[in-house]
Amino acid sequence: MQTKTIAIIGAGPAGMEASASLAKLGHQVVLIEKKASTGGHLNNWHHLFPDRRPAKELLQKLKQEVNHSNIEVMVNTAVHEVKQNDYRYELVLSEKNVINANAVLITTGFELFDAAKKEEYGYGIYNQVITNSDLEQLFQADNLAAQFKKPVKRVAFVHCVGSRDAKVNNHYCSKVCCVTAVKQSIEFKERMPETEVFCFYMDMRMFGPYYEELYREAQEKWGIVFIRGKISEASQTRDGSLQIKAEDTLASKPLRMNTDLLVLMAGMVPAEGNEHISRQFKLAIGDNRFFKSKDNHFDNQLSDTPGVFLAGACLAPMNITDTISQARAAALRIHEYLTN
Ligand SMILES: Cc1cc2nc3c(=O)[nH]c(=O)nc-3n(C[C@H](O)[C@H](O)[C@H](O)COP(=O)(O)OP(=O)(O)OC[C@H]3O[C@@H](n4cnc5c(N)ncnc54)[C@H](O)[C@@H]3O)c2cc1C
Ligand code: SF4
Repeated sequence: MQTKTIAIIGAGPAGMEASASLAKLGHQVVLIEKKASTGGHLNNWHHLFPDRRPAKELLQKLKQEVNHSNIEVMVNTAVHEVKQNDYRYELVLSEKNVINANAVLITTGFELFDAAKKEEYGYGIYNQVITNSDLEQLFQADNLAAQFKKPVKRVAFVHCVGSRDAKVNNHYCSKVCCVTAVKQSIEFKERMPETEVFCFYMDMRMFGPYYEELYREAQEKWGIVFIRGKISEASQTRDGSLQIKAEDTLASKPLRMNTDLLVLMAGMVPAEGNEHISRQFKLAIGDNRFFKSKDNHFDNQLSDTPGVFLAGACLAPMNITDTISQARAAALRIHEYLTN
């Protein structure tokens, strides 16, 4: 087999796993990452749902996999220009490096919704309002209680922040935030058992294996209270605590509650540079602004542009299990494309 070069843009779990699979199949891979290190969002998470495995463990495994003689990793690198000649792509990178690729895989992932856009929750205004991502950083510290200025007697989690929300033009469900809220509420109780924990949800979407079990554990073992209802506003009281207004939609009653901490389950949005990439490679973008594949069922890893493939959370919100599966599927489709 003649050696072929594949350029992979984005070195998160999708890009790393696809690189490793293609290298094992004998191809040369150039893995391009705009940030200073590989790993994507895995770098930001502490323990993962559903099995609570340390994110570092997965990161280490992926890093070992890409440490392969067929893979060249280029960090702090962006694709500035793309030229197509027949079935080859010429990619002009930072520092004027040029790569001639026989195929390109896009794995640019997602970004966290900017919670400050939902002004009613006061993110960036009140110190007691944080996001799911901020909480992961706090969990990385040994002593959680020491991270707060005042004792946290009560914490409230708000689901669907920036997802399923016509006001911010994000109609889709971010898929991972219900189970993240359940996981984080348990982790909170483990570290601070005296804290009361409430979750305000629209629907509980526990679609994956062992998610429902985690939800049960949260209620039965840890006494976490799940209230069906949306918080309409958070404001600060004179004593410096937060007051939230909500409606309990099961009991059909308005509700007010004081809380010491509000955790916003910010959803997943497409990566900022995706529009630029879509112009460079003539890729279709869906109504949800994620990349659109050729066919949702049979050709999910194919784009409409020959030789350009897609995998991972750049296509839609998804967990790591699905990301890894998609990365392997993309590698196989690229191998088929290059060997035919
Ligand atoms: C709060 C939260 C908690 C989560 N916890 C879990 C969990 O516990 N378990 C689980 O299974 N899933 C979890 N997820 C989902 C998980 O983070 C994703 O499934 C996974 O990160 C997707 O991997 P990816 O490689 O597609 O994207 P990403 O992780 O986003 O990686 C994309 C990479 O591409 C790079 N990139 C972007 N644009 C460019 C460009 N133009 N040029 C070069 N590089 C570029 C980025 O810098 C990044 O390194 C969580 C998600 C959220 C929001
Ligand atoms: S996974 Fe849950 S919290 Fe996230 S958008 Fe979907 S319903 Fe809302």
